[in-house]
Amino acid sequence: MKNLTPSLGTPQSTVEILNKYKFMFQKKFGQNFLIDTHVLDKIIRAADITKEDFVVEIGPGIGTMTQYLALSAGGVAAVEIDKALIPILQDTLGEYDNVTIINDDILKVDLKELAERMNGGKPVKIVANLPYYITTPIIMGIFERHVPVKSITVMVQKEVADRMQVGPGTKDYGALSLAVQYYAEPYIVANVPPNCFIPRPNVGSAVIRLTVHKEPPVKVQDEALMFAIIRASFNQRRKTLQNGLSHVPELGISKELTVRILEELTLPSSVRGEAMNLSQFAEFTNKVICYRHQPEFQV
Ligand code: SAM
Repeated sequence: MKNLTPSLGTPQSTVEILNKYKFMFQKKFGQNFLIDTHVLDKIIRAADITKEDFVVEIGPGIGTMTQYLALSAGGVAAVEIDKALIPILQDTLGEYDNVTIINDDILKVDLKELAERMNGGKPVKIVANLPYYITTPIIMGIFERHVPVKSITVMVQKEVADRMQVGPGTKDYGALSLAVQYYAEPYIVANVPPNCFIPRPNVGSAVIRLTVHKEPPVKVQDEALMFAIIRASFNQRRKTLQNGLSHVPELGISKELTVRILEELTLPSSVRGEAMNLSQFAEFTNKVICYRHQPEFQV
């Protein structure tokens, strides 16, 4: 690759490209483009990218962060849903020979297959200024499908970043916190104000790095069952665990069974899901499975 420096990242260069292509922002795609080189540097540093890394960027926009990624990484695949941005990306990334532009909806892309095809199945790094309207399905999809990933460094809504890293007993604690912490170690890298984007979002943002665990921090015999239990217990936050679970008949967990297991875990029978930590949910799930194997006990 030639000796390149990023040509984007400032308000002026962004406006110039937008005007050149008469680009119209699409609200439905969560388009807020980064116009601050300090923030871009911070993201790249936090993602700790080297030439050994293959990066998947979700939503490259006009290619601002992609230029930075292309200079640091061995290869980059940039997945953009908006057709109108493709000719712009071909222009702004034309000189970077290690970038592949993919015009698709990230929720429909098989990232496992992409990592296999483009990185020989080795773990990739995900870096993105995410479209906020689909932050949770994107992150959960990566985890639940076990896409080979080393780390995910992403700009998200500040409130969502907080939710990912808090523990029991706080108002932001919920199913997303537990899922993220089961799969990864979260770390908030920086808070980013609205004036770092064009157009300005009406919420604060934060960059969060999720370093994916080699092994989950707790052992659970059935991940899917544990997350179904977690979701049911946070569906109605103010409900006790026994009421929350009995409201989801598909789980097949009676109030009696919940109370019995809580007793064994030395937790109060009136405990709420919001007071339980990851290892308590894992132990609870393992005990449900254990009881299911005892035919004399009716769950
Ligand atoms: N990375 C650019 C930047 O930082 O300036 C743009 C970030 S902007 C917050 C989100 C980007 O994701 C937009 O380019 C938008 O068109 C794209 N996008 C939205 N939904 C998408 C989807 N389902 N799949 C792929 N890209 C999507």
